[in-house]
Amino acid sequence: MTQLSLKIIRCPNCGIENRIVYYASINTLMDLDGSQTAKLLNGTLNTSKCENCGVRIRLSLDVLINCPKGMFYLNPTDDLEYKKEQLKTYGVLSEEEKIVSGQVSLFLKAKDKLYLKKQYQPSSLPPPAPKITPHTKIYNEISEEVSKKLIKNKKSERDKKSKIAPKKVKPPLPPPPPKS
Ligand SMILES: [Zn+2]
Repeated sequence: MTQLSLKIIRCPNCGIENRIVYYASINTLMDLDGSQTAKLLNGTLNTSKCENCGVRIRLSLDVLINCPKGMFYLNPTDDLEYKKEQLKTYGVLSEEEKIVSGQVSLFLKAKDKLYLKKQYQPSSLPPPAPKITPHTKIYNEISEEVSKKLIKNKKSERDKKSKIAPKKVKPPLPPPPPKS
C-alpha cells in the first residue's frame, strides 16, 4: 500500500511551519500513471513550496518502494543515476528508462481475469428473444392477407357448388374470426 502522511516541517528560509505530504512508501502496482515513480526520479517527491516564501522544502526521508520483484528503499534526494539503476534492477524502470507503470500490470491482470471468467463461467442467461423486425411484421401482414383471400376463395367456391347442387351442401361455415 502507498502510505501517506502529513509532516510538519519548518521552512529553512523563513522559519514558517509547513505541512507537506510525505510518501513513506510507494506501491508501484498502485502508482497507476507512474507519477509517483516519476516524482521520485526527478526529486520532487516529498517536496513542497513554502506557503510563506515559496522556497522549495524537501523532506529527505527514505521511501520504501514496493514492487512485484521486491522491496527496497530509495531517497528522492539520491543521485539520479543511482535511482535509475535501482529502479531498473527491480524492473520498475525499463531499459529504455520508461516507467513500467502499475496501470499496465493492472490492465494485464484484469484482462487475465476476464479471460478466465469467459473460459470457465459461461453466461447462464437465456438466449435473447427473437426480435420483431419490420420484415417480420410485413411478412405477418402479408400472410394474414393471403390466408384471408384463401378463405374467401374457398367460400366462393363453395357458394358456386351450392348453386349447382344446393340440396347437397350444408350452410357455409361462418368465417373464422380475423387474426389479431
Ligand atoms: Zn518559507
